[in-house]
Amino acid sequence: MIPNNNGATLSFEVFPPTSKSSIDSLYHSLSQMEDLAPEFISVTCSNQQLSLTDSTVKIAQHIQQQHQVPSIVHLTAAYLNKGEVDDILEVLRQKNIRNILALRGDILPDKPRGTDFQYASDLISYIKGQDDRFSISAACYPEGHPESDNTVADIHHLREKIQAGADQLVTQMFFDNESFYQFQEKCQLAGIDVPILAGIMPVINKRQAERIIRTADIQLPRKFLAILDKYGDNPVALKDAGTAYAIDQIVDLVTQGAAGIHLYTMNKAETARRIYTATNSLFGIQETVEIS
Ligand code: FAD
Repeated sequence: MIPNNNGATLSFEVFPPTSKSSIDSLYHSLSQMEDLAPEFISVTCSNQQLSLTDSTVKIAQHIQQQHQVPSIVHLTAAYLNKGEVDDILEVLRQKNIRNILALRGDILPDKPRGTDFQYASDLISYIKGQDDRFSISAACYPEGHPESDNTVADIHHLREKIQAGADQLVTQMFFDNESFYQFQEKCQLAGIDVPILAGIMPVINKRQAERIIRTADIQLPRKFLAILDKYGDNPVALKDAGTAYAIDQIVDLVTQGAAGIHLYTMNKAETARRIYTATNSLFGIQETVEIS
């Protein structure tokens, strides 16, 4: 699960769909992803979802049982109390799911918050205190978290997540690799030495592109915007160019030593396969040691 310095890993993220037909379609996608042998597949959760165990955990269990691929369950804690987290941990133990991406989650303006977990670090230390056999991943933001006052505070709070027990970090999507390299350096300076997996989102349709432009708090490089501008109304070309852009990012990141690539698949096996096919030989390559 945790990269072991034997070369970069490739992992995937999927999300729980809302309708029955899309669940069937997700299960079909997962069956198409199995032979790509991802290091793990993580399953997102929603703050507003009624039951984590009915959706995220069910899919994670399916991934492990049907496809023999380790799964990571995303868990947001802003609206949970300790008793609820205990119950979730018990379900995860029963289903042999040992990996959690521990998050605070977004704050919804109209929903009263719980007081047990103010930040992700509170959740991480709580889980580790309850059962340190869980392996914990945490979120990080190469261009800063939107609520954060400044980079120093952001990195400081990120270090608290590691001190609380996070074993690896997964980044927010980014489209400018320089922001990832600069972030890695800041982490090194702050003594954050766990693997940092680069979150890569292939942008393959117009709706997705429009949402990113509207909401993303991240740099959108000129070459990325040019693709959206030129091919926005040509679905096939946009898919080709968006996939190629992600491949280009991945080649650069793996070549420059990123610990791993975490692909936001948007539940699309075809995208994962195209990227896998184009980059597969780059993963898992051990560093060569010169012997004089
Ligand atoms: P935290 O790490 O708690 O940070 C939140 C903010 O608080 C930051 O600005 C941080 O600098 C600040 N902070 C932290 N500690 C302190 C402190 N002690 N004092 C003052 N300020 C502090 N959302 C979902 O709803 N479902 C998902 O499945 C999901 N998956 C994600 C996966 C990844 C890889 C990423 C990057 C994000 C994901 N998110 C998901 C989004 C995430 O929930 C939001 O970005 C949320 O706003 C922050 O969660 P966090 O765990 O990073 O929070």
